[in-house]
Amino acid sequence: MSGTEKFFFLGAVTLAALMMSQAPQDSAAPASNMAVITPDNTPAGDDITPAPTILTISPSNTGYLDRLSACPGLSTARAADVGPDLQVVDFKPFVLAAGTVRLASAPVGGGCFSSAFGMRNGRLHKGVDYYSDSPVPVYSAAAGRVRSRSYRSDYGNMLVIEHGNGVYTRYAHLESFAGPDVGDLVSSGDLLGIMGNTAGYTIPRHLHFEVLTGTWKPRLGSFALTPADVMALPAAED
Ligand SMILES: [Zn+2]
Repeated sequence: MSGTEKFFFLGAVTLAALMMSQAPQDSAAPASNMAVITPDNTPAGDDITPAPTILTISPSNTGYLDRLSACPGLSTARAADVGPDLQVVDFKPFVLAAGTVRLASAPVGGGCFSSAFGMRNGRLHKGVDYYSDSPVPVYSAAAGRVRSRSYRSDYGNMLVIEHGNGVYTRYAHLESFAGPDVGDLVSSGDLLGIMGNTAGYTIPRHLHFEVLTGTWKPRLGSFALTPADVMALPAAED
């Protein structure tokens, strides 16, 4: 990441955090008799920093989900950390893979958590699923290089990114691919494609997202790697 990119990325994170911190105020019920401080009703004379503008940052870096809801159909038995309001408790928007690579946990522009990592119908579900009934963007979870971009009947339109230190991420069932192709460098938050339902069988629209570690092998490629549960990885420091 160049100095300029780093600056913009850090700026995006900061602005995203600022916008997040404002979100509850923006959504507060107007009937509330509590004083809600917004740029529109700030008392005159108060030394308040102006609201941040988002015009100077790459929108893709603000696209990750910062909070996560479980889809209504998600079995609580397989996602025990979901509260009664369907919010995923202690959701970690960024995690550390292999102790070194900072990854976004939910690199999608929208959707809900529809399937956890782990055994499903007697087979290991090697990733997590995010479901959306409408097409939403899918972003690179971290900077890296596109290692594989292909169609498979089991994974549909599938893209694998290598992040270094033996860490990879896989994005499956994409409706379409965006710009990055094999060998291209991507930044954290770059658009990879649109969430879809491509596969050799009928499935709902969702992103199947895998975090993989290990060594890429000539014939097996990404299928020689070991899947990890992104939700179980440690939270990354800001
Ligand atoms: Zn899946």
